[in-house]
Amino acid sequence: MRKVSVFGATGSVGMSTLDLIQRDPEGYRVVALTAHNDVAGLAAAARQSNAAIAVIGNEAHYEALKDALRGSGTEAAAGESALIDVAGADADWSMAAIVGCAGLRPTMAALKAGGTVALANKESLVSAGALMMDAVGASGATLLPVDSEHNAIFQCLAGSRMEDVARITLTASGGPFRTHSREEMRGITPAQAVAHPNWSMGAKISVDSATMMNKGLELIEAAHLFPVGLDRIEILVHPQSVIHSMVEYRDRSTLAQLGSPDMRIPIAHALAWPERIATPCQPLDLARIGRLDFEAPDEDRFPALRLTRQAAEAGGAAPAILNAANEVAVAAFLKGAIGFLDIAMIVEDVLNGYSAPVPQQIDDVLEADAQARKRAAQVMERLTA
Ligand code: NAD
Ligand code: MG
Repeated sequence: MRKVSVFGATGSVGMSTLDLIQRDPEGYRVVALTAHNDVAGLAAAARQSNAAIAVIGNEAHYEALKDALRGSGTEAAAGESALIDVAGADADWSMAAIVGCAGLRPTMAALKAGGTVALANKESLVSAGALMMDAVGASGATLLPVDSEHNAIFQCLAGSRMEDVARITLTASGGPFRTHSREEMRGITPAQAVAHPNWSMGAKISVDSATMMNKGLELIEAAHLFPVGLDRIEILVHPQSVIHSMVEYRDRSTLAQLGSPDMRIPIAHALAWPERIATPCQPLDLARIGRLDFEAPDEDRFPALRLTRQAAEAGGAAPAILNAANEVAVAAFLKGAIGFLDIAMIVEDVLNGYSAPVPQQIDDVLEADAQARKRAAQVMERLTA
């Protein structure tokens, strides 16, 4: 029996992970499940999976969680320190599926503990990639990418030498506004932005997909996971989301990974690795799909692509600053406080107006993150004044 924990258990990736785990009750014992505010969802997941401990990030919900778990046999805990404690505890396999830089400390704790960490929480790698990869090296942890593109690349690489790789191609659906002009994007509502054409995901990543910030964050993520050099990683728009990414080798042979757009496929790969397990996902029906299309990304209509490459090339604290500004702007957009086009504008303003020293430790990353959040709030105040 493998001991597993799921961080961000009430989210889209977290629930897909539990769905797979619960299909094999003999195979897994659930150690810890976590959530931030969703007490009812966390308690239901803990009861269903017989979790040893459930942690609610927001301490104000501790009593409510205790009540909801009464008689279940699951221990209740609350707060960031409890989150970090359970992340460092004795799971063989953990899913890092908290959204945003909030997942950084728990993910680092899991990596330092040296087990296998399946990583969905791309913002942590964007903000602190160098420190996270150092932690992997120091503890001997196994980091398995869950983001569908990175999981695809991992599968296509199949242990190859980085010097044999000529190019990595990250595919992008282009999001719901792939064919919109800037003018048409101006009045987009949160409801329109979260309605992704191919994937069902949490609100934040759905907005990131609509601005294509998601693909830019994934470029930075890929550069840390697969150190071939930024100039060898390119983005290709592929509206059907059937090819999840590709690796071209120096002999000009290209491998691609294909599958239905269902996150349970890459999650199952990370859960079973190095073996394979059956999933309830749809088999790929290429005759029905009929054709696969490709186009170059458009940095003029999607400035997030340009900004993320700029931050990736600058390195140091720049990706953490970009990520923090984006998190603030996306949250404001979802609340209806700013417009869709303002998101990239705010990120650009913060990225160009603030820099911080190269982070030597996680505290430095979180300091740059906090400063960038303040600046983003100031830019928004100017905007809405
Ligand atoms: P979601 O919004 O559906 O769920 C987020 C989870 O994180 C919830 O369980 C929530 O309780 C928890 N959380 C939120 N804020 C927190 C905080 N401050 N402290 C602790 N926990 C907190 O998000 P999601 O779509 O499942 O995405 C999770 C991560 O996976 C993101 O980093 C996202 O980019 C990445 N990802 C998601 C998908 C997808 O299909 N949804 C695909 C690829 C990568
Ligand atoms: Mg992805």
